[in-house]
Amino acid sequence: RLSKRLETVANYIPKNSILADIGSDHAYLPCFASLRGSIKKGIAGEITEGPLQSAKEQVAKSGLSEMIDVRKGDGLEVIEPNEVTCITIAGMGGTLIRSILEKGKAKLTGVERLILQPNIGAHRIREWLLDNGWELTAEEILEEDGKIYEILVSDKGNPKTPYDSIEAGVLLGPFLMKEKNEVFIKKWINELNHWEKIISQLEHAEKTEENNKRKEELIHNSNIVREVLK
Ligand code: SAM
Repeated sequence: RLSKRLETVANYIPKNSILADIGSDHAYLPCFASLRGSIKKGIAGEITEGPLQSAKEQVAKSGLSEMIDVRKGDGLEVIEPNEVTCITIAGMGGTLIRSILEKGKAKLTGVERLILQPNIGAHRIREWLLDNGWELTAEEILEEDGKIYEILVSDKGNPKTPYDSIEAGVLLGPFLMKEKNEVFIKKWINELNHWEKIISQLEHAEKTEENNKRKEELIHNSNIVREVLK
């Protein structure tokens, strides 16, 4: 069975997409989407040899070698401009996902939807989407095996549309902070507790400019989060 996390990502792939799944590892996601009939063709991109071989084996074992191309390379270098209509990047940090998008900007022509699942640092991706003409159109937060995951869905459009407050929205997610479900509340209570500890450590640490700046930032963000959780 596919993880709930990847199944939720797959639910946002538009029907008849040509999909590139970047950092595909076992290629579970494109195989699932293909077997379910939601894509016309898939590309599984991998930078590392081991996962690349796992992807090839999984594709062959699923009888999908005609449907899914497994390609080795860094980020979006495995696709051509106008080759795919949907890109998924899941299970990595937000900073890495953002750098893959930034480096591969030229390959995004023809892409209609990005589905991004950062393990941490979702705000880094929201910032990038805002700066690059991508409109966030849906978000999900879910818990699986004791871990909390966010999924960001984005289409070409007006990047400011979903935001009332850019600052709070980038940090917490404009859709997630409106919905405020149980997992969201749990995530941010954990985060507040974690920040609280760092703030208190910084209070006892050397008062360098960097430490003060970090502390002020954490206090500022904590206030934003508390206001939303109220
Ligand atoms: N996407 C799968 C998922 O969500 O279950 C696999 C996630 S796995 C933790 C991350 C994968 O991304 C690894 O297999 C790694 O080799 C690959 N990866 C990391 N950086 C990459 C890059 N710049 N380009 C392509 N693949 C990359």
